[in-house]
Amino acid sequence: MAQRYIKYRHVTQYFFVFCAFFETLFRFSTFFCYLCAMIRDFQLRLLPQMAASDAEIRQHVADEGGLNIRDIRAQRILRRSIDARQRQIFVNLTVRVWVNEEPETEAFQRTDYPCVENRPSVVVVGAGPGGLFAALRLIELGLRPIVVERGKDVHERKRDIARISREHLVNPESNYSFGEGGAGAYSDGKLYTRSKKRGSVEKILNVFCQHGAQTSILADAHPHIGTDRLPRVIENIRNTILQAGGEVHFQTRMTDLLIEGDKVMGIVAEDVNGSVEFHGPVILATGHSARDVYRLLAARNIEIEAKGIAVGVRLEHPSQLIDQIQYHSREGRGRWLPAAEYSYVQQVRERGVYSFCMCPGGFVVPAATGPEQVVVNGMSPSNRGGKWSNSGMVVEMRPEDVLADEGDSLGMLRYQEELERLCWQQGGRRQTAPAQRMSDFVNGHLSYDLPASSYAPGLVSSPLHFWVPPFIAERLQEGFRVFGRKSHGFLTNEAVVIGVETRTSSPVRIIRNNETLQHVRLEGLYPCGEGAGYAGGIVSAAIDGERCAEACAEMMKGFSV
Ligand SMILES: Cc1cc2nc3c(=O)[nH]c(=O)nc-3n(C[C@H](O)[C@H](O)[C@H](O)COP(=O)(O)OP(=O)(O)OC[C@H]3O[C@@H](n4cnc5c(N)ncnc54)[C@H](O)[C@@H]3O)c2cc1C
Repeated sequence: MAQRYIKYRHVTQYFFVFCAFFETLFRFSTFFCYLCAMIRDFQLRLLPQMAASDAEIRQHVADEGGLNIRDIRAQRILRRSIDARQRQIFVNLTVRVWVNEEPETEAFQRTDYPCVENRPSVVVVGAGPGGLFAALRLIELGLRPIVVERGKDVHERKRDIARISREHLVNPESNYSFGEGGAGAYSDGKLYTRSKKRGSVEKILNVFCQHGAQTSILADAHPHIGTDRLPRVIENIRNTILQAGGEVHFQTRMTDLLIEGDKVMGIVAEDVNGSVEFHGPVILATGHSARDVYRLLAARNIEIEAKGIAVGVRLEHPSQLIDQIQYHSREGRGRWLPAAEYSYVQQVRERGVYSFCMCPGGFVVPAATGPEQVVVNGMSPSNRGGKWSNSGMVVEMRPEDVLADEGDSLGMLRYQEELERLCWQQGGRRQTAPAQRMSDFVNGHLSYDLPASSYAPGLVSSPLHFWVPPFIAERLQEGFRVFGRKSHGFLTNEAVVIGVETRTSSPVRIIRNNETLQHVRLEGLYPCGEGAGYAGGIVSAAIDGERCAEACAEMMKGFSV
């Protein structure tokens, strides 16, 4: 009996020694893992099919870093670009991996939006990227935005946009430029910009992600949201403004500024019930198509000036052809590459001729904002899967190229209007757009037929080389010849030029003080975004919106409104 007890005692002792050994081993290995936990960045250059697979990327990182693949807990692509300069195409990636630890942060940086219900108000006119980002920044800074927008909310707006193509009817308050989200809503949602302020660009992209944009926009060299995803993002931004205690008024058009001496005190607006006033400093972000706003400012002797623009046509190719040219392959993009982009620029007789707002796999859209206008623009969905690829092909124009009197502040605007009206006449006085095959345009021949096109209202054959002003037409012809020499197959009768692209930027600048960002004379007025002549494109308009909000908050520190 005693012997058996001794035997069991030994077994128990061995068991405890055994457990202690494994516990020590476990603790040691945890400590060792802790010591080995790290975050590392890798530069990879992969074939497209490899770059499309997370598993392949992980394997490459493990091989390159001498890591055990099971220790990689997470990976994130920080930068992605396509190198299509040679026949063999590569994808360049910067990949961050978490080894033996989990990422502590989300894939994007969140911004806090505090409650601003009882805070001083600022009136933001226009709910485009400039106005919306001004409103968000005001909230961050503890001010209450009152957003006033002439158009409808982003979903109702869709019906009016559909009617342009279907019934050839343009609602002057709700179209591709006017309504929630501004010209940016039913746009391509390309988010690259020439802005050199990396921090500001990243902030804007992060705010887009916080409101529902895909996080790949933080990595891609040419980020792009897509017209199918933008409305939801814009709606989420509106909800952030409302939840923080701001106001958003749709179908409310600013008709005048409330001015006392040299100070702007608010605005007068028209909504469905009649006239209404909003009080506070004013961030004026009404975009480049609000011609009534420019005319109002001119009539009230508020300092504005004519600004240079770029004018031309939309050029549309079959996307397969562009893929073949850009990816140097008969097969085109294949399974792993996105629809190809291009960018061309050439000086022709002292003026730039260049491609603008290129939309791979996209559509050409009717972007008129009023009656008796035909204006075209382009956009693409997130998958860029359409059959055509288009871009604006435009010629730089300076006020001295057009105006007899350079002091004529609305002269460039009238030039745009005349050309859009001429285009409407040439197109058959509907939203059908005048068009010509590309080689025919370059060689001065009428096109007897036209290729199929994405432009929904329809095309009508027209001699654009003949009626587009020679200043533009001749430079475009020369530019196209040069682009055709640079890229074999680009100058072709399979492509079509569609008239006219006039709304590339603002024809007017609302003059502001570079330091305070206020109007050069009127205190409390912040001309903002593309319409003010200080931005071009979604991201730069958004950055300018943030800057105007900051300047306004700085001014309001001194006194309460
Ligand atoms: C079809 C299309 C595709 C585009 N694609 C791209 C792209 O892919 N990438 C890119 O960077 N840019 C693109 N752009 C250009 C881009 O949309 C603009 O640069 C950008 O929207 C300018 O922002 P904004 O806020 O300054 O002005 P806008 O976006 O023009 O917004 C101005 C807002 O003010 C409102 N408004 C005007 N007058 C009044 C008034 N009197 N009272 C109240 N409200 C008023 C308008 O309704 C509008 O909503 C595209 C534009 C179009 C039309």
